[in-house]
Amino acid sequence: MRIAETVTFGGSGLDRAAERRGKPEELARLAADPGARALALWRGKPMLAGEERDRAGWLPMGHAVLEAADEAPVFLGLDEGAPCFAYDISDWEPEEMPDTLGAFFDPSQQAHPDAPSDHRFAELRGAMTRLTPRDAELVATAKAITGWHQTHGYCARCGARTEVAMAGWQRDCPECHAHHFPRTDPVVIMLITRGNKVLVGRSPGWPEGMYSLLAGFVEPGETIEAAVRREVFEEAGITVGAVEYLASQPWPFPSSLMFGCCGEALNDDITIDPDEIENAIWVTREEMQDVFAGTSTRLKPARKGAIAHFLIWNWMADRLD
Ligand SMILES: [Zn+2]
Repeated sequence: MRIAETVTFGGSGLDRAAERRGKPEELARLAADPGARALALWRGKPMLAGEERDRAGWLPMGHAVLEAADEAPVFLGLDEGAPCFAYDISDWEPEEMPDTLGAFFDPSQQAHPDAPSDHRFAELRGAMTRLTPRDAELVATAKAITGWHQTHGYCARCGARTEVAMAGWQRDCPECHAHHFPRTDPVVIMLITRGNKVLVGRSPGWPEGMYSLLAGFVEPGETIEAAVRREVFEEAGITVGAVEYLASQPWPFPSSLMFGCCGEALNDDITIDPDEIENAIWVTREEMQDVFAGTSTRLKPARKGAIAHFLIWNWMADRLD
């Protein structure tokens, strides 16, 4: 798919400068660079800036906000030569703790008393389509990697507390000397068509009328194509023939990599697995155009910014090549 990388979080060609991660003196020099900057994250929410929270809320290195970090920062890479770091300050306590924290979408925003007045910790889902591709890549990377540190602080082999290594891209166990690397979980998401119609489904708890493409985790030992066929058959009873890869999307909620594929259905009759999804239906291209235009009374579109929205949009525009 030629326009694959225009998807949200589709990549901005960031120089991750991975060769510098293992060189402490070089990292110290990068951190001391006058152009170096830091992104603070709090319990999975990046610091965003502007009245619309439509840009990353970068702070200068050494800023007071960063003092609450209890581990070394992650070196994200070089943005036009400027070193970028991520600091997890989840130990910080705002004056008011939101009761929506951890919900699918937490609309609350937290101002830090030491940060500039237009900076807030805010849910990335609400801002992801408005960030520049570079900020989107940096913030998504920062969110995914700090989320991994938060949930992988102990050695999976011996249970000892592990230590940050390689500029935040590794954790090492001081007891058994195992190395642990950041996780990325592969997920297939598929545009399954039969003639002029596309297969969409919904999960329990979604907003009323919202339907999206079927998706599922790739299992160990499985190819992407096999995962597409298995998931669609399990969830909807549809047999899929030819499968093609279209585009990928890092999805840091918390650590997925979405493989967008298309596939041809070989039968029409849907049999859903109620343990997996609430419903699945076929929608014609014409009806989907109404859905995306907001004129459908029956259905709501997939969320903007998600690869499902991107794939359906480009299917309707005949741009999957
Ligand atoms: Zn260990």
